[in-house]
Amino acid sequence: MNCIFCKIIKKEISSNIEYEDDQLMVFQDIHPKAPVHLLIVPKVHIDNLDQVGEDHKELLGELVWQASQLAKEKGINQKGYKLVMNCGREGGQTVDHLHLHLVGGKNVAGVL
Ligand code: AMP
Ligand code: ZN
Repeated sequence: MNCIFCKIIKKEISSNIEYEDDQLMVFQDIHPKAPVHLLIVPKVHIDNLDQVGEDHKELLGELVWQASQLAKEKGINQKGYKLVMNCGREGGQTVDHLHLHLVGGKNVAGVL
């Protein structure tokens, strides 16, 4: 499958990895919209939120949990941050591999 995020996960394409475990990979967005702009990506390929099943409920929780931990590690949790997940073309999704954006480090009201 010609999926850029799968290639990043397999390390066929380089990225700035911030966190990795058996389920997730977190790397920096190549076109950051804020001083902190991370993509939290499940290792399994799922196109988007429209393709998740009941068995993905735990994984979805893991994405949000990891975002909250990274926000603390980055020191943006006190001032605030934003999580965004785009779904489909009209939702603004450009890469068809499920991912959660974590943006912060400046006022991100209206960003993404
Ligand atoms: P979305 O529009 O929600 O699908 O977000 C896709 C994001 O992936 C955009 O913010 C892009 O800047 C980012 N992106 C695309 N290609 C890469 C890449 N090779 N490495 C890191 N981020 C990327
Ligand atoms: Zn993929």
